[in-house]
Order: sequence, then structure tokens, then C-alpha cells
Amino acid sequence: MQKKDIDWGNLSFAYIKTDKRFVSNYKNGAWDEGALVDDATVCISECAGVIQYSQTVFEGLKAYTTEDGHIVCFRPDLNAARIEESAKRLEIPVFPQERFLKAVDEVVAANEAFVPPYGSGATFYLRPVLFATGPVIGVKPAEEYQFRIFGTPVGPYFKGGAKPIVIKVSDFDRAAPNGTGHIKAGLNYAMSLHAIVTAHEEGYAENLYLDPKTRTKVEETGGANFLFVTKDNKVVTPKSNSILPSITRRSLVQVAKEYLGLEAEEREITLEEVKDMAECGLCGTAAVISPVGKIVDHGKEICFPSGMEKMGPITQKLYDTLTGIQMGRIEGPKGWVHRIK
Ligand SMILES: *Cc1c(COP(=O)(O)O)cnc(C)c1O
Repeated sequence: MQKKDIDWGNLSFAYIKTDKRFVSNYKNGAWDEGALVDDATVCISECAGVIQYSQTVFEGLKAYTTEDGHIVCFRPDLNAARIEESAKRLEIPVFPQERFLKAVDEVVAANEAFVPPYGSGATFYLRPVLFATGPVIGVKPAEEYQFRIFGTPVGPYFKGGAKPIVIKVSDFDRAAPNGTGHIKAGLNYAMSLHAIVTAHEEGYAENLYLDPKTRTKVEETGGANFLFVTKDNKVVTPKSNSILPSITRRSLVQVAKEYLGLEAEEREITLEEVKDMAECGLCGTAAVISPVGKIVDHGKEICFPSGMEKMGPITQKLYDTLTGIQMGRIEGPKGWVHRIK
């Protein structure tokens, strides 16, 4: 197989149209068989539920080439399970998990020429999405939907290595206590855009959102979960039912316990106690871990001892171990690395 003529080392995190995508449509109460198609556009009613009332959920996962030349993806079963939870919360019919997994394999295999080679730092990012295509004008769930998975090759989230970032405590809220923060809904991102554009204008890389009810507890950023390391080397992650359950964060916690022999705990974390933490990172599929060097809370600076030059030592070990498992250099727990080719 001939790889596409792409400058793998200089890709950014942006969309490139690839050859094939999987599409299945839901009509009259059932999903059709679905197929790999060439058309990268979607043609729907102007009154589609996704356009009127943002009835849409999505996932994000990566396929990549391992050291020994296989193409794999990381824990796709958890994405299949999570999009089911997301769909249910927005009254979207569930796309069966085993069909989701099969579609992931098909899209990756059909676009093998776009899967970046090992060592390039680039990966093939997959975007499964479920959205309402049927017309609605009164507020109610639509009757027709589309499930689609497309992929795009993306560069490393951080070019030239992960430098610690500076983030701010936001005055905006991300997710209401009994709202949709725990599901991967497009609407959560639509309402975070003004907050992130504002933060960027002020020179911050990300927003730290607090729990809206008490504004005292750390929730997450717009698209990544927090992971802290305490001064006695314990990994702690915020517990809240309005945080999106990051697969990366859950995997890192397991790596901390089983590979690094560290204690790990998921619990409520107040903003007040963050100043006592030794290390801080943001976890998500795109970057695995982005180290945080400083958090600014209305002019008050919280500077982590790990500094602004490099990741903290535990964060670095977590990063190296998880990426080692993903790339096939370290044997992972059973079922973590799913081989496609
Ligand atoms: C997708 C997402 C994450 C990261 O989840 P992963 O499964 O690790 O990619 C974190 N927070 C939010 C709000 C997200 O949408």
C-alpha cells in the first residue's frame, strides 16, 4: 500500500479530507446497513434537528502505526460505550456498540494510506458523530438520524514537545450540575467557544471551570480532564457528575496504580487546595497529557513546583508509560490496544 504524499512531520491539528467514511442512516425506527462512501458532504433539511436544536453527540479517538508496523487504536470499546450514554441523554437512537467498533475498523482500513507512519508524531484522528437529520420545528427529538465516522491525519498536538501551559480560572460555567457535562455533546462545545476565545485573547491557553453551584471545586477545562499529583506523589483527579469521563484520564489512573505503583484517588478537589499540588496536567485523546505550569485565579497566581520548562516528573512517567503502551513499546493491559491491521 502506497502512503499518501503528505508531509507527516508538519501536519497540524486540522481537517484533511480522506478517501472513505462510514455512513448509516436511521429512518422508520431502524438503522440501515451503512456503507463506506466517498462523499464528504452531508445534505440535510434546513429544519434538521441538529441545525435547529443541536441534537448531536460525538466521539474522538486515534488510530496510529505501532513500532512493529501494525495499525491499532486505543480502547475503542470505551468510545463505543460512551457515545451510547451520550446518545441516550439527548434522545438519539443508539448506534449498536459492535457496529460502531466494526465501522471504526472499516474506516481505518479503507484510509490506510492516510495513517501516519510510526515515529512521525502524527496520528489518524477518528471522529464518530451522531446527529438528527429529520426536520423538527416544535421542540422534540427528530425521527431521522445519521451516524458517520470519518478520519483525518493530524499532527502532534504540541509541536516541539509539551511545554507547560498557563490557564485561567473562568468566570463562565461549562456544565450545570444536572445538565449534560458528562456526555460528549456538541452543545457543550458551542457554549464554551466564547469562553475560550476570551481566554486566548487574554493570553491563556485554556479555562479551568469550577462547579457552577458552589464555584469552589475544580471541574475540567473545555475539552480535557485534570490530573494532579500531590507532594507525596499521589495522583488525584476531580470527582463530579458533570465532568466528561475522559478515557485518557481513566487509563492514566490505571497506569499510575498498576505500572508506577502509585496511589490514585478520584475525589472532590477544591480550588483552594490546588496551590498545594506538586504537578498538574490536562488529559485527553488529542495531547494525552498537557502539563500545566501555572493557573491564574483573578490575578492570583498558582505556580506548580514543576515550573514552566518541562512536565513534572510523575506526569512525564505517566505520559511515557501510556504512550509506550499505545505505540506497542510497552505491553498494555488486556484489550487496551486494538489491532486493525
Ligand atoms: C473528549 C473530552 C475529554 C477527553 O476525553 P478522552 O476520552 O480522554 O479523549 C475531556 N473533556 C471533555 C469535555 C471532552 O469532551
